[in-house]
Amino acid sequence: MRTIDTLVIGAGIAGLSAAARIARHSETLVIERESAAGYHSSGRSATFCHFGIGDGLVHKLTAMSKAVFAAPPEGDHPPLAKRMAAFFVARAEEEQQLDRLTETTLAHSPDAERIAGTDLQSIVPVLKTGPDGFASGLYDPDAYKLDSDAMLQANIRVLRSAGAQLVTDAPVEAIRRDGERWIVDTPGESYAARRIVNAAGSWADTLASMADVNPLGLTPLKRTIIAFRPPEGTDVSDWPFTKTVGAGFYMLPEGSGRLLASPMDETPSEPCDAQPDEEAIALAAWQVEQATTMPIKRIDHKWSGLRTFAPDKSPVAGYAPDAPGFFWLAGQGGFGLQTSPAMAMAAEALALDLDWPGELAAQDIRREMLSPARLGNQFSRSSTSAKV
Ligand SMILES: Cc1cc2nc3c(=O)[nH]c(=O)nc-3n(C[C@H](O)[C@H](O)[C@H](O)COP(=O)(O)OP(=O)(O)OC[C@H]3O[C@@H](n4cnc5c(N)ncnc54)[C@H](O)[C@@H]3O)c2cc1C
Repeated sequence: MRTIDTLVIGAGIAGLSAAARIARHSETLVIERESAAGYHSSGRSATFCHFGIGDGLVHKLTAMSKAVFAAPPEGDHPPLAKRMAAFFVARAEEEQQLDRLTETTLAHSPDAERIAGTDLQSIVPVLKTGPDGFASGLYDPDAYKLDSDAMLQANIRVLRSAGAQLVTDAPVEAIRRDGERWIVDTPGESYAARRIVNAAGSWADTLASMADVNPLGLTPLKRTIIAFRPPEGTDVSDWPFTKTVGAGFYMLPEGSGRLLASPMDETPSEPCDAQPDEEAIALAAWQVEQATTMPIKRIDHKWSGLRTFAPDKSPVAGYAPDAPGFFWLAGQGGFGLQTSPAMAMAAEALALDLDWPGELAAQDIRREMLSPARLGNQFSRSSTSAKV
C-alpha cells in the first residue's frame, strides 16, 4: 500500500493540467488506465479554441485560457497553440443565432467582424453562398489552434519537475473509504490517498459509483472527425476554422495540406473506446459536399471520441458534497482543451482550499459556478448503477 497526499485518476488534459498545479503544494500521483496519456478524448479532439461553443461560464473560462495560449509559459517546449482565425457561417434564417454569437465573441475578441454575401468566399473560396448557401458570417482573427500532445506533454514535464509521478497501465478497479483516507486499488498497487481527484473523463460517474459517491449524471456524446484532401491545387493552409452556427459541420486545415471535418454529431454513448460508425462518416462527407463546391473523393483517416457533459452542460470542479476528500473534475464536454488552463487553476484553489485566483475573479468566475453541489443530488447511485 502506497500512501500519497493527492491521487489524480485520469491522465487526460483535465487530470494532467490540474495535477501539474496541485503538485506544487502536495505530494501528487496521477494514475492512468491506458499505456499513454491522452488516449481517450484528449487525444481525439479537433483542438480548437473559440467562443462558438458553450455557455457564459465556458466563454469566461475560455477567455482566461486564451490569454495563456497567447503568451504561453517560457521554456524549452513545442508551441502549445498557434493563432488561427475562427469563421462562423450562417444561412439567411440563422441570422439571429449569428447575432447572438457576434455579441458573445465581441465581448472577448474585439477584432471579430461580420462578413456578408459573396465576401464569405474571399475567406473560404469553396463556400456556397446565396439562396442555397450561406448569407453571412462572423470572422474572429483571434482564435487558436491548439496542440493537444504538446499541452499534455508540457503538463507532464511540469508535474514531474514538481516531484510528482504519472503511472500508466494502472486501471482503478476499486475505491473505498478507510478512516481519513481513500483506498484505491489497481492491479499492480494499492494507494491510500488523503484526497482523490476524479478526472476520469467519460468514466467519472463510473468511478464515483465505485467509491459509493453519488454520480453527477454525466452523459458521454460521441463525435466523429474525417480527414480528406481538398481538390488538386487547392491551398487550404490559410483557411480558418469554419463552423456553421446552426446544425451542419465544422472544418479546419490539418497542417499536411488536408482538411478535417466533423458533422458535429452528438450520439449518446456508454463510456468506451469510441469508434467511428459508417453513418457519421458519410454524414461528415455529405455536410461538406452540401455546403461547399468540394467533392470528397477519398477519406484518408477518421476517428471518434467522447465529449462528456454534466446535466447543465457546464464543467464541474469541487469536492463531492456527500464524500469528504473526493474531488470532481469532470464534464469538460467539447471545450476541455480550450478551458484547461483556467480549470486547472480553479481545481488547484478548490482542492487545496487556497485563495481564489485573481485571474478567475477578473472574469467573474466564482467557485459556486463550478461546484458539483449546484447539480443537486438528483442522480442517485441506483439510477446509474447500470453504467458501472
Ligand atoms: C471529436 C472531438 C472534438 C473535440 N474538439 C474540441 C475542441 O476543438 N476544443 C476543445 O477544447 N475540446 C474539444 N473536445 C473536447 C475535449 O477533447 C475534452 O473535453 C477533453 O479531452 C476531456 O478531457 P478529460 O481529461 O476530462 O478526459 P480524457 O481525455 O478522456 O481523460 C480521462 C482519462 O481517464 C482515464 N480513466 C478512466 N477510467 C479510469 C480508471 N478506472 N482508471 C484509471 N484511469 C481511468 C481514461 O483512460 C482517460 O485517459 C473534443 C472532443 C472530441 C471527442
